[in-house]
Amino acid sequence: MLLFLKEFLFNVFIISSPFVLYPYLHRFRDNVATYRGFLILLCTVTIVVTMSFPVVINELSYDFRSVPLVIGSLYGGWFVALVLYGVILAVRYVLSMPDNFMYAISLMSTFAVTWAAIKLFRQASLGFRMLIAVFACALIKLTTFTIYLTMQDRLHLLTDNPLETIATYLFQSLIVAIGVYLIEFLRRYSQIQEEVVNTERMKLVSEIAASVAHEIRNPLTAVRGFIHLLGTVELTAEKKEQYKGICFAELERAEQIIADYLSLARTDPEHVEEIDLNAELSYMYSLLSNFANFNNIKLQAHFHEESRLVTMGDKHKFRQALLNIGKNAIEAMPDGGDLSLAAERQGDYAIIRISDTGIGMTSEQVRRLGTPYYSTKDKGTGLGTMVSFNIVKKMGGSIHIDSELNKGTTFVIKFHNFST
Ligand code: ADP
Ligand code: MG
Repeated sequence: MLLFLKEFLFNVFIISSPFVLYPYLHRFRDNVATYRGFLILLCTVTIVVTMSFPVVINELSYDFRSVPLVIGSLYGGWFVALVLYGVILAVRYVLSMPDNFMYAISLMSTFAVTWAAIKLFRQASLGFRMLIAVFACALIKLTTFTIYLTMQDRLHLLTDNPLETIATYLFQSLIVAIGVYLIEFLRRYSQIQEEVVNTERMKLVSEIAASVAHEIRNPLTAVRGFIHLLGTVELTAEKKEQYKGICFAELERAEQIIADYLSLARTDPEHVEEIDLNAELSYMYSLLSNFANFNNIKLQAHFHEESRLVTMGDKHKFRQALLNIGKNAIEAMPDGGDLSLAAERQGDYAIIRISDTGIGMTSEQVRRLGTPYYSTKDKGTGLGTMVSFNIVKKMGGSIHIDSELNKGTTFVIKFHNFST
C-alpha cells in the first residue's frame, strides 16, 4: 500500500493543480466559447498527465482521469463532456493501450450518467453538488471497469483485492469533493467582490446626486430667463437668434451633466476599451467641480497637452476608481483647500496625479489603505480605496501614495501608455 502512496500523491498533485487556475477561468464565464475552450484545455492537460503516469495495482492501472472528466463536464456542460470523452479515448490510443474498441464501448456507456449528473448539478446546492460529483465519478469508473473487464473475462481483477480497489475509490471521491468545494468557494468569493464594487458605486452615485442636481439648476435658470425675455420684449430677429443659441447651449450643458452622471450609475457588463486620460480628467473635473465648490475647495486640472495618453480598461470602472480617490481627497479637507488633478507622461507610462492639501495620513495609515473596512470616518465604509485599488490593479496599473500629516496627500496612478 505504501508503495503506491508516492504515485498516488503525484496523481493527486496533478489533479489538483488546475484548481489554482480556476480564478482566471472564472473571469471568462460571460464568454461561453472562451470559458469552454479554457476548461477543455485545463482538463485535457490533466487527463494526459494522469493517464501517462498511472498507479498500477494487480495489473490494473488506476489513474484519476474521471476527476477532470467529471469536473469539466459538470462545470462546462455536455459539449465539454463529449470533448473530454473523446480526449480520453484519443490519449488511450496514442499511448497504445490495449483493447481500445472494448474500452470505447465501456466508457461511452457511461455518458448517460454524466448527462444526468450535468442536469441535476445545475439546480443543486453546494452539498448536493459535491455528492453528485462524487457519485458521478464513482459510477463512471465502476461502470467502465465492470463492462470492460467483463468483456475480457477478467472481472476478478477488480474483486481480488477489495481493499485497494476501495482505497482508490475513496481517494478519488475525496479529491472530487474537495475540488467542487474549492471551485464553489472561489465562485462565491468573486461574486462577493463584485457585489462590494457595485454597492460602493451606488453609494458614490447617491453622494454625488445632490451636487449634480444643483449643477443642473444653473442652466435651467438661465434658460427660463431667456425664454421669458423672448416672450415679453420686442426684440430684433438677430437678438432672438442669439438668445435661442444661448438656450440651446445651456440645455446641452444640462444634458451633458445628466449623461455624465448616468454613465457613472450604469451597470453595464465589463467592456475593455481605450481610455483617453485627458478626457477622463475633464470628466472627473466636471463631476467633482460642484462637489468641491460645496466644500469650499479650489479644483484645478492640468492636462497633458502634448500628446494623447491612453490606457486600456473598463471606462465606468475606471471612473469609479478615480472618483473614489477624488472624493476621499475632498473629504480630507473639511476646512477647504486645493485639489489638483493632473495627467502626465513619464516615458512609456501615463500618470494620473490627484493631490490634496488635507489632513494627510501617517505611514501606518497609508499602509492600511486598500484593506477592506479601514475607515477613520463616522459614516465611512472603508471600501472606497479597496475598490479603486482592485480596479487599477485589474487594468495592470499601480498606485503610489505620498502623504504627510496635516500637509496633504498625493495619489499617483500609473498605467502603461498605449498611445502611439
Ligand atoms: P471611507 O472613505 O469610506 O472612509 P475609503 O476606503 O475610501 O473609505 O478610505 C479609507 C480611509 O483612508 C479613510 O477613512 C481615510 O482615513 C483614509 N484616506 C483616504 N484617502 C485619504 C486622503 N486623500 N487624505 C487623508 N486620508 C485619506
Ligand atoms: Mg471613501
